[in-house]
Amino acid sequence: MMTTVALKFGRRMNTALRSSNLLYRSSSSFLLSANFLIQIPLTRKMSTDAHNIASQLNSSGLLRTQGLIGGKWQDAYDGKTIKVYNPSTGESIADVACMGGRETNDAISSAFDAFKSWSKTTAAERSKLLRKWYDLLMAHKEELAQLITLEQGKPLKESLGEINYSAGFIEFASEEAKRIYGDIIPAPQSDRRLFVLKQPVGVVGAITPWNFPLAMITRKVGPALACGCTVVIKPSELTPLTALAAAELSIQAGIPAGVVNVVMGNAPDIGDALIASPQIRKITFTGSTAVGKKLMAGSAETVKKVSLELGGNAPCIVFDDADLDVAVKGTLAAKFRNSGQTCVCANRILVQEGIYDKFANALLEAVQSMKVGDGFSEGVAQGPLINEAAVKKVDSLIHEATSKGAKVILGGKRHSLGSTFYEPTVITDVDNDMLISRQEAFGPVAPLLRFKTEEDAIRIANDTNAGLGSYVFTNSIQRSWRVAEALEYGLVGVNEGVISTEVAPFGGVKQSGLGREGSKYGMDEYLEIKYVCLGNMNKD
Ligand code: NAP
Repeated sequence: MMTTVALKFGRRMNTALRSSNLLYRSSSSFLLSANFLIQIPLTRKMSTDAHNIASQLNSSGLLRTQGLIGGKWQDAYDGKTIKVYNPSTGESIADVACMGGRETNDAISSAFDAFKSWSKTTAAERSKLLRKWYDLLMAHKEELAQLITLEQGKPLKESLGEINYSAGFIEFASEEAKRIYGDIIPAPQSDRRLFVLKQPVGVVGAITPWNFPLAMITRKVGPALACGCTVVIKPSELTPLTALAAAELSIQAGIPAGVVNVVMGNAPDIGDALIASPQIRKITFTGSTAVGKKLMAGSAETVKKVSLELGGNAPCIVFDDADLDVAVKGTLAAKFRNSGQTCVCANRILVQEGIYDKFANALLEAVQSMKVGDGFSEGVAQGPLINEAAVKKVDSLIHEATSKGAKVILGGKRHSLGSTFYEPTVITDVDNDMLISRQEAFGPVAPLLRFKTEEDAIRIANDTNAGLGSYVFTNSIQRSWRVAEALEYGLVGVNEGVISTEVAPFGGVKQSGLGREGSKYGMDEYLEIKYVCLGNMNKD
């Protein structure tokens, strides 16, 4: 049986779909017409059906390749495009608009105009629209997850998890919109009344990375919109399709034109335009510490409010008294989620000497059992890295560590599946001075460090400029409190490897960032506090 579906993808999508395992049976039915329509065969045996991906994305209008400015889908003004690649195969899957400063300035103007009316809507109105957006994200969960796997590479199961997590921020924001309360303060003078109003900051520039193509957007845009702000989003050029699909759903939800704008392409130009504009009152950024510092410095010129979610160097501390199974399971999740490409991935696994060998062997066995492959293949737990540069970085960190005495007990080399795949790796005898302990590896390598005492563990864990995620495995309630309090980190997981949720505050200390996302605390980032004093209240 063969059904055809017209897609607006670029010509190379054909090859990409075929070789990314989306299409199991290569078929003579691939026809490219002058306007790049392609045919997708229905015949395949995977649980995620290629026909469904194509036809659902197409019919729900979720396949977008232009930027969104003032409610209109726009090409780059000079017609330039940029390719989006499937990291699993390295082939391009779409050509999207490659925008820069001019488009960004127009997006800012649209957001500025929209702010005038959006900020005056009632909390109930904003809440309803956000709820509708949440409903649509969940209704299109499967297609969005497939899109994430296609452009980011993570296993489909993880992509589905990301949709739940991402949509959760919109749902939470829709509820929290109604609870943006001010205060009445008892006045020190009898003829005065003192009020505190909370008001939206204004137009927000939101710059996001590729590793969570949807979640990093919704956890900024949800609270921003709930508070009455409007946004200009700049997703990573590596994963813009998910961002554009989410923006399309915001339109379908009825969120007014100009409230959500998306530009992508030339990152420095877009970043410069956002920073230079006095109409942008807030920059919220998730990404590398280096870029975050630039944005923070640039924002000083117009004194913008800034939130930064930057890189981490998470310690995962396993004490002798830990439950071995819980520690291995938790470490596996903390380390290997998204093939090690999250800011809260365990970067250094500190293991107490009494349990070190046992833990190393058990972790090795668990890591060995993970299937590596294309994110659409059944049972795959480890997908590709985002690009070959990421593979090279992991490889060089492992080489530097082994040249200084670390031992590879599993993996330690590129995977035969292709240039973006790396074998899940465990290395022992790592110390805290090796580069692998100083930098974010952002890949599937678990470096095991040995420590003697609780004090040693805390000292080593805190010996870094980063302070985002951290993990502790112990069966002692007293120790878990002591260590959690002593760790200089914004997040601590005790006997848990995955702790992020929309209802709790997420963010780092030291050079891992400023501000928090998620929870009631995440709302404050998009609000200004205004003090109003009513005087002469005793006069009739
Ligand atoms: P990145 O290179 O800093 O990129 C992040 C975003 O910034 C992308 O949209 C990128 O655009 C943009 N960008 C790059 N240069 C810019 C500039 N000069 N001006 C304005 N924007 C600019 O980081 P990444 O490699 O995508 O992401 C990985 C990093 O993000 C890791 O360090 C990870 O720990 C961190 N991260 C942190 C969190 C957190 O919550 N703390 C969460 C996820 C990731 P292009 O991609 O289009 O170039």
